[in-house]
Amino acid sequence: MKTADFIVIGGGIAGLSAAARLASHGKVLVCEAEQAAGYHSSGRSATYYHFGIGNNAVRAMTSYSRAFFETPPEGFCDQPLCRPTPALFIAREDMVDSLNALEAEMRRFTDTISRATEADMRAMIPVLKVGDGAVVAGVIDHGGRRLDADGLLQGFAKQVKVQGGEVLTDHSVAALTRLNGVWEVTTQRGEKLGAPIVINAAGAWADKIGALAGAKPLGLQPKRRTVILIDPPEGIDIANWPFVKTAVDDFYMIPESGRLLASPVDEIESEPTDAQPEDYDLALAAWKVEEYTTLTVPRIGHRWAGLRSFVADRVPTAGFAPDVEGFFWLAGQGGYGLQTAPAMADIVASLITGTPWPHQLEALGLTHNQVAPERLF
Ligand SMILES: Cc1cc2nc3c(=O)[nH]c(=O)nc-3n(C[C@H](O)[C@H](O)[C@H](O)COP(=O)(O)OP(=O)(O)OC[C@H]3O[C@@H](n4cnc5c(N)ncnc54)[C@H](O)[C@@H]3O)c2cc1C
Repeated sequence: MKTADFIVIGGGIAGLSAAARLASHGKVLVCEAEQAAGYHSSGRSATYYHFGIGNNAVRAMTSYSRAFFETPPEGFCDQPLCRPTPALFIAREDMVDSLNALEAEMRRFTDTISRATEADMRAMIPVLKVGDGAVVAGVIDHGGRRLDADGLLQGFAKQVKVQGGEVLTDHSVAALTRLNGVWEVTTQRGEKLGAPIVINAAGAWADKIGALAGAKPLGLQPKRRTVILIDPPEGIDIANWPFVKTAVDDFYMIPESGRLLASPVDEIESEPTDAQPEDYDLALAAWKVEEYTTLTVPRIGHRWAGLRSFVADRVPTAGFAPDVEGFFWLAGQGGYGLQTAPAMADIVASLITGTPWPHQLEALGLTHNQVAPERLF
C-alpha cells in the first residue's frame, strides 16, 4: 500500500492547487479518476478572472489570488499565466439597476472600474447593439485578466512532483475506510493508498466522496453551463475585444483563439456527470449572440458544457468535516474555481497545518467561518 501524509481526491484546479501547497508540508498523493487531470470543469471554463461574478467572499478570494497569477513561483511555468483583457459589463434599460449595484460591489475590491459611454462600447465591440431598445449603459473593469488554465494545471502538478508528491491519474476512488487514525483509500481497480488526512476535491462528485467517508453532505448542486465558438465577423480584428457580459446572467462573449466564445450563462441542475451540451442550450447561445450583437450565427464551430457546483450560499467551502475525523472538504468552487484557486490553496494549507489564516484575506473581509463546512449544516 502506498502511504502519504495527505491524499487529495480530484485532479482539477482545486485539488492540484491545494496539493501543490501541501506538498511542502508532507508527502501528497493526488487521485484523479480520469486519464488526465483537468478533464472535467477545470478544462472546460472560460478562463476569465474578474470581479463581476460571485459574492464578496468570492471577490476577496479573487483579489487575493491576483498576485499569484501575475507573479507565480520561480519555475512554475514558462509562459505568463494571465494577460490583461478588460471586462465590459453591459445593461439594457431593465438591467441598469443591476449594473449600478454590480459596479458598487466591484469598486469595493478594485479601483480599475470606469463607466463606458455608448461611443466607448461601440469602439470596444463594433457589433454590439447599442442605443434605444438595446444596451444603454456599461461599466469597464480594466483589471480583468485571461487565465491560462492549462498552464495553471500543469504548473501545480509540477509543483506536486518536484516536492516528492505524485499525481495518480486513472485512480478512481471507490471506498474510504478509517482505521487507527489512518484512511485506507481503495480505487476502483483495487489499489490501496493510506494517509491520515484525505482532502475531498472531487468537484461535482464531492458529496459522493463525502458519502464514502460517512460525512454529512454539503448539499452541493452541480449546474451545467454551455459554451459555443463561432466565427468572427469577416474583416474585423477581434483580438482586442473585451470579455463582455450582461449585468444580469443572460449572455457573455470573449475572443478565443481567433473565434468568439459565447454563453447564455445557463445554470441547469445536473447530476455529477461528464456534461454534454444540449440542443436547446446551444440554440439559446446562438440566439443570445444575435440578440446582443449584429452577428448572425449560421453555424456553431465548436461547443462544450461543463459543471459549476455550488453550495447554498455560493461560497467555496474549505475545512475539516465536523463529523468525520481526518476528512477535509474542498468543494463548491462554482463558476470561479480558477480565479480563486491560489486563495483556496492557501486557506487549505492554513487550516490543515494550523498556520495563521492568511492576513491579507482577513484584511479583505474573509474569515474562516465564511468557508467552514459547519455553516452549511
Ligand atoms: C463553461 C464554464 C465556464 C467557466 N468559466 C470560468 C471562468 O471564466 N473563471 C473561473 O475562475 N472559473 C470558471 N468556471 C468554473 C471552474 O471551471 C470551476 O470552478 C473549477 O474548474 C472547479 O474545479 P474543481 O477542481 O473543483 O473541479 P473539477 O475540475 O471538476 O475537478 C474535480 C475532479 O475530481 C475527479 N473525481 C471525481 N470523482 C472522483 C473519484 N471518485 N476519484 C478520483 N477522482 C475523482 C474528477 O474526475 C475531476 O477531475 C467555469 C466553468 C464552466 C463549466
